[in-house]
Amino acid sequence: MNATEVLRAPLVVEFPFTRSLGPVQSAFLTGLRERTVLGVRTTGGGVLVPPTEYDPVTAAEIRDLVEVAATGTVTTWAWNPTPRRNQPLATPFAWVLVRLDGADTALLHVLDAPGPEAVRTGMRVRIRWAEERTGAITDIACFEPYEGPDTSQAAPHSGEFADPVTVITTPARLDYSYAPGRAQSRYLTALAGRRTLGERCPSCHKVYVPPRGACPTCGVATDEQVEVGPRGTVTTFCIVNIKAKNLDIEVPYVYAHIALDGADLALHGRIGGIPYDQVRMGLRVEPVWSEAGGRYPDHYRPSGEPDADYDLYKELL
Ligand SMILES: [Zn+2]
Repeated sequence: MNATEVLRAPLVVEFPFTRSLGPVQSAFLTGLRERTVLGVRTTGGGVLVPPTEYDPVTAAEIRDLVEVAATGTVTTWAWNPTPRRNQPLATPFAWVLVRLDGADTALLHVLDAPGPEAVRTGMRVRIRWAEERTGAITDIACFEPYEGPDTSQAAPHSGEFADPVTVITTPARLDYSYAPGRAQSRYLTALAGRRTLGERCPSCHKVYVPPRGACPTCGVATDEQVEVGPRGTVTTFCIVNIKAKNLDIEVPYVYAHIALDGADLALHGRIGGIPYDQVRMGLRVEPVWSEAGGRYPDHYRPSGEPDADYDLYKELL
């Protein structure tokens, strides 16, 4: 591989986020399940849809729920010609802000339309309900064009439903292609050959590992490669007690900042080969490479040397 070839890799950051809803969001989402859109009245008399628990102007707690219409007006929009995985519609659609009749604020959702020429600010729309509803914003499948007047209804509502939704799990997923740039590509390529290359700043002479291509302090490009490690010192660490999905590591384990010998910046790594409660600041470690073909150290283990003196790494904490 050419040393200056820039790497590229697909990356996915994904986690399910579980949250309790509280009285207002619970009523709003349970309402959607029952084809009822609820807003909340502010102390100034306006109606917020989607509702919040606190008045955005006065910060006062607000609980005065009202039911608004399933029809509304587009206040602004953007066309999405290429829907991505898990977006509300599989065919091209418009992202829209819709002020429902009876509300004073707009709700973000999507509009099913044949093309951007069929969408305009001020157009009338109505909710198309999902056939199966669970108490989620996706209970509104989308909006669709609608020819009808603004009814501006906002009727008081208790917010009480049988079997209310109190907790939701929101999947969050960021799916992207990562290009690390020339400096990190050099670093990763060297790492695949079991050499750790930092880069030295020509101005302050600090060695950055992994290198970012420029010194964050001086703002100048770094292009002098310096081999560091392979051994290093644990500068600080944490004990991980939560098992990550897709990561086959038993908890608890230790994740540490490790200052490789010759580096002026600590990098991250897992510590193995020692009970988690015996890991300490100053522990000397060495890399353990992953199975054949691995491009990076799987973890670091104690090297057997005496602990490093605090003064030697205190600037790297
Ligand atoms: Zn510098």
